[in-house]
Amino acid sequence: MKVVVLGAGIVGMTSALRIVEDCGTAGLDMTVMADKFSPNTTSDVAAGVWSLPRSKMTKREMQWLRWSHEYLTALLKTPYAPEIGLFLQSGWTMWMHVDEQDPDWKDLVQGYRHPTKWELTNLFPGYKDGFFCTTFMLESRLFLPWAENRLWTLVCQIQSLTMPIGLFVLLPLMTISNSVNSVLLFSLKLYLDHDIIVNCTGIGARDLVGDTKVVPSRGQIITVKAPWIKHRIELTGIHPSIPGCPYVISGHSHTRIGGIRQHGRWDLSVDPRDTEKILDGITTVFPSLKNVEILNVKTGLRPMREEIRLEREEKRDNLSGKTVQIIHNYGHGGNGIAWSFGCAKEVAIMVKQLLQKQSTKSRL
Ligand SMILES: Cc1cc2nc3c(=O)[nH]c(=O)nc-3n(C[C@H](O)[C@H](O)[C@H](O)COP(=O)(O)OP(=O)(O)OC[C@H]3O[C@@H](n4cnc5c(N)ncnc54)[C@H](O)[C@@H]3O)c2cc1C
Repeated sequence: MKVVVLGAGIVGMTSALRIVEDCGTAGLDMTVMADKFSPNTTSDVAAGVWSLPRSKMTKREMQWLRWSHEYLTALLKTPYAPEIGLFLQSGWTMWMHVDEQDPDWKDLVQGYRHPTKWELTNLFPGYKDGFFCTTFMLESRLFLPWAENRLWTLVCQIQSLTMPIGLFVLLPLMTISNSVNSVLLFSLKLYLDHDIIVNCTGIGARDLVGDTKVVPSRGQIITVKAPWIKHRIELTGIHPSIPGCPYVISGHSHTRIGGIRQHGRWDLSVDPRDTEKILDGITTVFPSLKNVEILNVKTGLRPMREEIRLEREEKRDNLSGKTVQIIHNYGHGGNGIAWSFGCAKEVAIMVKQLLQKQSTKSRL
């Protein structure tokens, strides 16, 4: 069975890995295709915290999170955890209201608790509440090249290719359009050459699928040399004297600071005004970061969607009679690291079912 995973960010790479790990390589011909690979994906820009919004989770979402947590727990116990940028980190998320609900996933992270009086008074004056917990950090900039290598060794092909706009929209037109254009030809070839296409194209899905529910939230993040920062601190809500919603996250070798979430903004150029805003916010809380050495500033587009699209779609080319299965897995917003490993397991389950179905058919 020929399977192609489109996208080489955290969602594509975890999907590809879990497909080969859970389904085995026998009878599976796997390829990963994307126009950008590490270090140039949005996932490489992410700080890497396993953390999520406090909004209500569905049963299915909670299952993804449990699977993701289980997988990372297993990875943490391997000797290569440091090589893939995986470690545990403690830290605070603070907010400006006292009536916020605890998140549904609070029992998945370790040692979840509300801040003490000392923390509220001395560390975060003005903030009303929040939580402290220990959770995973996974730095994609280290994990993705490792995953790529692992896929190579598992005999998965990796191809660099730009998919044309409208790729997923056009197949049904194949039979009603006589004017063959390059997008049609490309789509036709991709569809005819594969049995399963796993669509993990992040923000790119908006154009490829024509899904206008996918919108960017532009982020800008500064990597600094601040080895004295040992925790993760995320400040949310409008504070009377702290500009923006800054965060600081101690990483594997460096510290990341950020806090930019610009809904609907597409440009990826580094904006010096954003850099200033991030530094203003964070140095109000941590004066020790004034004059910190800046190593780089990067931007990325979080693929926001009301809900993650993880579902199977069947498309049929009436000319050839060929049916192709598409598994969409995109729209992981600002939390792709946390979701991806769990969503990837569901993708692998879907692929396994299709493989079994095909082998039953060929036995008949
Ligand atoms: C500043 C910032 C900080 C963040 N911090 C965190 C964090 O701490 N924790 C967390 O969980 N998340 C964080 N995120 C969010 C996280 O980065 C995203 O949720 C995640 O990267 C989405 O992964 P993805 O694989 O869907 O997308 P991407 O990483 O963007 O990968 C998409 C892939 O699809 C390919 N593709 C798209 N369109 C096409 C096309 N037309 N042709 C060919 N290939 C195509 C791309 O080349 C790429 O390989 C952060 C994001 C930003 C911007």
